[in-house]
Amino acid sequence: MLAEIIAVGSEMLTPHRQDTNSLYLTAGLNDLGVTVAFKTIVGDNRDHLVSAILIALSRADIVLLSGGLGPTADDLTRECCAQALKLPLQRSEALLQALLQRFSARNMPMPPNNARQADVIAGATILPNPNGSAPGQWLDLAFNGHRKLVALLPGPPRELKPIFDTECKPRLAAALPQNHLARRMLRMALIPESQVDARTAPIYQQFPDVETTILAGHAEIQLHFLCVKPTIAEAEARVEAVADAVAREMGDDIFSLNGESLEEVVLLMLGVRHRTLAIAESCTGGWLGERLTAVPNSSRVFLGGAIAYSDRSKTALADVPCYLIDEHGAVSDAVARALAEGIRRRTGSSLALSITGSAGPTAPRGPDASKPVGLVYIALTDGEDTQVKELHLTGDRDRIRLWATQHALELLRRYLQ
Ligand code: ATP
Ligand code: MG
Repeated sequence: MLAEIIAVGSEMLTPHRQDTNSLYLTAGLNDLGVTVAFKTIVGDNRDHLVSAILIALSRADIVLLSGGLGPTADDLTRECCAQALKLPLQRSEALLQALLQRFSARNMPMPPNNARQADVIAGATILPNPNGSAPGQWLDLAFNGHRKLVALLPGPPRELKPIFDTECKPRLAAALPQNHLARRMLRMALIPESQVDARTAPIYQQFPDVETTILAGHAEIQLHFLCVKPTIAEAEARVEAVADAVAREMGDDIFSLNGESLEEVVLLMLGVRHRTLAIAESCTGGWLGERLTAVPNSSRVFLGGAIAYSDRSKTALADVPCYLIDEHGAVSDAVARALAEGIRRRTGSSLALSITGSAGPTAPRGPDASKPVGLVYIALTDGEDTQVKELHLTGDRDRIRLWATQHALELLRRYLQ
């Protein structure tokens, strides 16, 4: 069964508004084992909307429409659906009374336009909307000899979501062959996507019944596996099999076997190994600390640290000797090492990470002037040994800073592993 989602609304064809309803509907359809084959965004235009609906009916079994159910003249979804399906609209007396009551409860007269919200496509089931005035509509009908399931849903997400969950999902589930879906996500950091694909494609291609997606971005690669089978056990077994085979190939490069973030994994490993962590950040300005503290309960292992941004604060907050900065510059192996060792002593943590670098866009001043933008040093110390890594990162300031935090977390993960 293929689905198409039509988001109705001219505002979503401007740079100011995005269609998010379709993401929610897609997740819900996927839960039922239904693949979304097409998404359309169409403005509040009668001809365009009718043609979008006709195209959707020609290529999908399930058509979900969101928006355009309001009372105003540019809310055209009811009329256009009726026109495309060649069915009449019928005013529901019960809905009309309910609308009148809604208004009188607020001590307001009902504008005549609102009566349009009581118009129902012939044969449609009314889907009550507890959070708004426009009810949804559900159609299960034959169109050109094929069974079609069509839902009209209001645009505001807080109205659409509950109607979809309570009214549409059970109806869809009843209409679909019994299907169960299993998913699994593996995550890797700091590897090029092409390398991941080259190494894993020969494996996942042996599982044609599992849908594999590689997502790259934010300094990580995610491998998503999705499988639909008549029983959940079968679906899970297939997803496990492909994930295990890929995990064997990628080995230590995988930081997460079940979708956890890199910071979650690192915090978990620190807890298991009874270690605590402190950090000293220069060019990332607290981003590493933000990532760690965004995870609830990180205080069990993350003690804190310093944003040692200026040269003076490197000395004041992490005891970096002035002569090291004068001699080597703040962006240096020696200063990264001293930052990590200094913050570890100051906080009494068992482990400490530091980051110092040049994030650009202009070259640093003083002793670092000759160093390129993107040069970053990270250090990890356990009090006995200190490892320092020199990184040559590319891209804009944000990218360099994100990748610096990712390298620091990955260095720690590999140490703990
Ligand atoms: P209303 O009765 O509120 O007019 P409606 O069904 O006519 O409901 P629209 O007028 O199309 O819906 O949209 C109302 C609001 O809902 C929009 O201003 C927008 O904020 C939100 N909305 C509409 N469609 C979407 C969408 N696809 N994704 C996210 N938000 C949406
Ligand atoms: Mg509207």
